[in-house]
Amino acid sequence: MTVNRRDLLKAAAAAGALNLAWPLATGLSPAQAREAAEKLGAVYDRAPFTLGVASGDPQPHSVVLWTRLAPEPLAAEQDLPEVVEVAWVVAKDAGLRRVVARGTAPASATLGHSVHVPVDGLAPGRTYWYAFKALGRTSRVGRTRTAPRGRVGKVTFAAANCQAFHDGYYAAHRGIAREDVDFVVHLGDYIYEHGQVGGVPEAHVRDHDGPEILTLADYRKRHALYKGDASLRAAHAAHPWFLTWDDHEVVNDYSGTGGGAPFMKRRAAAYQAWFEHMPHRDSFGGSALPDPEIHRVRRWGDLLELTVLDLRSHRSAQNLPDGTILGAEQKAWLKKTVDRAPDSWHVWANSIMLSQLRGRPGGSYMFTDQWDGFLAERKEVLGHVHASGLEDLVVVTGDWHSAFVDDVRTDFDAPDSPLVGTEFTAHSVTSGAYSPEWNAKNGPLMGKANPHLKYFEGNRYGYDVYEVTPERFSAHMRVIGDRRDPRSPVSTLTTFHVDRGRAGSYEDDATKASPAQYRRD
Ligand code: FE
Ligand code: CA
Repeated sequence: MTVNRRDLLKAAAAAGALNLAWPLATGLSPAQAREAAEKLGAVYDRAPFTLGVASGDPQPHSVVLWTRLAPEPLAAEQDLPEVVEVAWVVAKDAGLRRVVARGTAPASATLGHSVHVPVDGLAPGRTYWYAFKALGRTSRVGRTRTAPRGRVGKVTFAAANCQAFHDGYYAAHRGIAREDVDFVVHLGDYIYEHGQVGGVPEAHVRDHDGPEILTLADYRKRHALYKGDASLRAAHAAHPWFLTWDDHEVVNDYSGTGGGAPFMKRRAAAYQAWFEHMPHRDSFGGSALPDPEIHRVRRWGDLLELTVLDLRSHRSAQNLPDGTILGAEQKAWLKKTVDRAPDSWHVWANSIMLSQLRGRPGGSYMFTDQWDGFLAERKEVLGHVHASGLEDLVVVTGDWHSAFVDDVRTDFDAPDSPLVGTEFTAHSVTSGAYSPEWNAKNGPLMGKANPHLKYFEGNRYGYDVYEVTPERFSAHMRVIGDRRDPRSPVSTLTTFHVDRGRAGSYEDDATKASPAQYRRD
């Protein structure tokens, strides 16, 4: 029988019984919390590896392996020794017989008994399998893949974003787990900090009707709940991931340091819990508590350069004449990255929409939490892209809970200004989008108001798969049939292409007639 967790939570909220149905409600024991989570479809791996395994930040010779020991995943404190030695192994085969590297790493209570192992000495462009052992138990086997070097004929990757647990099942991640991709990029809103269970898009949520989370224990439990969805663990175990974050990893619409000391404490707790649950390579070297550095640039031989951006940690408030979304240091780094860029495809992993978005002709920007709230900096960065002669730029974006395709221009108010790239904004995994009525009414209005906007579809959930060859960059919009069904089948709604050396995208003839609420002809 399929349990529909979205409707179940809504019903519980309506009946005033959310404190029993919501696994992270205060007052529940760890066992009760787990029972509530299981009623919402959570199924954990065998202890102590309940949260599964993951790998991340693949490079030609290195990848990071992750796990966390959490015998009671929703407990505030794990009943474990202060430090537990965890053995790890990497092999050329799924049976873990042809071992290429092995070792041990300490899992300490300080970092929630998480383990991050940077494995070096691997061969480029190869698939490997790995597992962990601790407390007499062995984890599931994960699969990962290093980046290739030299001439590369093809790279395929998936992008996911916005996966509110209370809004549905991760059938999209089940799809990603089954995709033949080299890696996955997560564009943020991996968790949601609030307990709001309605279907209202987050940008409109100002008053949350559930308990917010504030402490390290709160954020740990939230991450552990989300990892209870078996499809998410499957997607982690199947491919290496890159991660950036957006606001809900901490709190809705936050910026930099705004909020003072209590906020900084909350942010530190959120960042630490995030790190403890992600296959993220960091530079603090175990000598301090995590303050994860997100932005990085990685290459897949001569074919693809991936630039991961952090649009949260270093930003100022919105709508300031001299405001910044990147922060001075990251902006200088991004410009240098553009200057040094090789002749290849350039992908920016960008958590929130870069392109201008007015709600209706002559109207104002819809959301100034996205790049529209940082006009001078957007102009400066895109002007730099143009001045440097960077070509073949594709920006992949999350946050909006609906799919958009945009032409990226140096000045969005001047439709004849230079076209410097394409932005693909992907559907969300589960997080609620606007209603079909809203989409039908506003899709054409947004199209009219934004001459660079080519496509809008907001009635579906899913993820994107990008297929990259020397000649062409293709974006396949994968959608699920129903987020209330954990096994909902995946299909391709439409495909857009960008040809190498030619800025601008075009829709594939075969899917041009697919449903959408706006399409520029
Ligand atoms: Fe979101
Ligand atoms: Ca967001």
